[in-house]
Amino acid sequence: MERALVSALINGHKVTAPNSMNIIQAYWHAGFPRVSGVGCLEGVCGSCRILVRRASSNEVTTALGCHTMIEEGMQVQFLSYSTPKQHYYHLTDFRDSWDVQGKFHDVFPEVSHCRSCGGCDKACPKEIEVEMGVALAAKGRFREAGELFVECVMCNLCKSSCPERIDPNHVGLFCRRVTAYFHIRPSNLINRLESIRKGEFRIVR
Ligand code: SF4
Ligand code: SF4
Repeated sequence: MERALVSALINGHKVTAPNSMNIIQAYWHAGFPRVSGVGCLEGVCGSCRILVRRASSNEVTTALGCHTMIEEGMQVQFLSYSTPKQHYYHLTDFRDSWDVQGKFHDVFPEVSHCRSCGGCDKACPKEIEVEMGVALAAKGRFREAGELFVECVMCNLCKSSCPERIDPNHVGLFCRRVTAYFHIRPSNLINRLESIRKGEFRIVR
């Protein structure tokens, strides 16, 4: 990639940096030691949420700072990482897989209010079919729904854009958890765990 110095506005500060840098690197390069909101430093991936407006467009979009390269004339604002609404459930309280669908709607009653507006899809920096995942979960198709969320980094941008205050990422997590809990684990995983338990497989640290 050809490197050129470009200037952008990040959190209201004029930043000049090579166009080979992402937004976080460019901000550091300009002397702003941002750590808070940078998930790989704080341990929560998906925290470096930003609003972006490019010079060529009036549209403001959502993105992750680590995924977005600095461009000339770009305006960027880091968003604070909102604490998600808590959904409490214990998988051990589920009688069996017949119990899951009813429990799901008890835990996430707001899901039945989904407007199919597509706001979550537009906000997702991982291009996940979020709306589809929520719709599949609402129908009890938890395995299919959970598979859609495999790449989710829990950035909460889908939640922030939802007019019904649904937490699609936590819906996805629920789906993946119940799928794993109520299905037989892969035999190679079971065999490997058993050989570790018997001391037949040494883990070198
Ligand atoms: S599904 Fe939601 S939390 Fe997960 S990556 Fe997409 S926007 Fe972020
Ligand atoms: S943003 Fe909310 S209401 Fe709109 S489609 Fe996504 S989950 Fe449904």
